[in-house]
Amino acid sequence: MDQGNRPYSAAPLRGQRRDLGAQGTLAAKVWQDLQFITPPYCALCGYPFAFEAGPDSRCGPCLAEAPPFAAARSVLVYDDVSRELILKFKHGDHLQAVPTLAGMMNRAGGELITGAQVIVPVPLHRWRLLRRRYNQAALLGLSLSRVTGLRCVADGLLRTRATPSQGHMKAKDRSENVRKAFTVNPRQVEAIAGRVVLLVDDVFTTGATVRECTKALLQAGAAEVRVLAVARVVRAESL
Ligand SMILES: [Zn+2]
Repeated sequence: MDQGNRPYSAAPLRGQRRDLGAQGTLAAKVWQDLQFITPPYCALCGYPFAFEAGPDSRCGPCLAEAPPFAAARSVLVYDDVSRELILKFKHGDHLQAVPTLAGMMNRAGGELITGAQVIVPVPLHRWRLLRRRYNQAALLGLSLSRVTGLRCVADGLLRTRATPSQGHMKAKDRSENVRKAFTVNPRQVEAIAGRVVLLVDDVFTTGATVRECTKALLQAGAAEVRVLAVARVVRAESL
């Protein structure tokens, strides 16, 4: 399944309902409309570039301050199509999409998966877990574990406090919101210390959450942290 060099065009899809398919398949229309992130992108955080910038090129934010994780990659541009796909299974009525998404992550994240030793999902706080019923990052991590054979430590990270939903927050506020909000589960330190960790999340927005999770993992002795997300928020001017 090669999506080639599709430009990151912002398709006018808002408000449309679409059939997401069933039983682990995506309807052809949805598949067609997904925007896969392909090179060129930032060597560190995977942010897509509009133009070829040479190997090992970094985006502005990564040049200004290198992230604590070794690398981050995302499969899809976060747009109306991928958002609907993720929201559907976030609320538990489209769980059959999980293996399909995990398969996409396996293909797109090949270079990160090679050499990784353990999968750890970004955790949800308990009350949010109850309301939403599913931690989508954990579901993705477990599904990716089945595809890759890597062990998934679903409770490797814990939220130390509830953080307000970040939906409408700006980058700086998100960063404040999640500061020191995560810790490694004391019962799982042994599974994480000395290991190369693949941190899994559904949407990479500003990277504030995965940066904080990475810090907690490194503090617990992880050898390296790599981040793999389903979708990446791309600023309009980069489209
Ligand atoms: Zn970057």
